[in-house]
Amino acid sequence: MLVSAKEMLIKAKEGKYAVGQFNINNLEWTKSILQTAQELNSPVILGVSEGAGKYMCGYKTVVGMVNGMLEEMGITVPVALHLDHGSYEHAFKVIEAGFSSVMFDGSHYDINENIEKTKEIIKIAHEKGLSVEAEVGSIGGEEDGVIGGGEVADVNECKMIADLGVDMLAAGIGNIHGKYPANWQGLRFDVLEKISEATNPMPLVLHGGTGIPADMIKKAISLGVSKINVNTECQLSFADATRKYIEAGKDLEGKGFDPRKLLAPGAEAIKATVKEKMELFGSVNKA
Ligand SMILES: [Zn+2]
Repeated sequence: MLVSAKEMLIKAKEGKYAVGQFNINNLEWTKSILQTAQELNSPVILGVSEGAGKYMCGYKTVVGMVNGMLEEMGITVPVALHLDHGSYEHAFKVIEAGFSSVMFDGSHYDINENIEKTKEIIKIAHEKGLSVEAEVGSIGGEEDGVIGGGEVADVNECKMIADLGVDMLAAGIGNIHGKYPANWQGLRFDVLEKISEATNPMPLVLHGGTGIPADMIKKAISLGVSKINVNTECQLSFADATRKYIEAGKDLEGKGFDPRKLLAPGAEAIKATVKEKMELFGSVNKA
């Protein structure tokens, strides 16, 4: 059964580790992430962007697929199904569809409108048992066609949003979605420290986990980050393994064209990436 992310993140904050949010795109993605979480006895958050939700034929399809897998695969570790960077309209759609967690990204509104809309979503989501993530200061890079400027969040605004009763808070600290440019300045730990102090014990969320060096990830966790989002890295490892299979001509050998064979190396590559991240984040055996 799906659970909200609230309890797993409170435990993570107390235990000084982070729970990974891994974004899903299809059945293979979801299966690989769930298998790895179960094997490593780790809690996990399945992230669904609006674009991926549309690609998978809508949120009800996603809920049906994930619930089916939890039962048929015998998954016993805590699993949350979470809308990633949800708009106001889509936040309500996933609440209806049966998600267990929702991010409302109101970072592009002015702070007062972000507060008003976040409040409304908290009220409805909490009535139905979903956890809520809010965002202050947009995360840099591109996500589903929305380009964020990579702002650094204002500490007072973080405190205002945290005090509304959200369950986790994403704040821009120089992190960006997708691959990091060569001239990236690194995470702003000075800002993270201030946000963490002002919002304690709120679990903080680090977006754009792909390509942040391991030592920075560990330091961010020590400063209050309890959820880390990973998306691009699974895409890169899937693509790389699939490319190797094709380039080696394996699809032309015997029944190598069978999609269950063709997609298997990519699925294994996702599992390896998820395992590596869960070990780095410290969530292994924390289910
Ligand atoms: Zn994000």
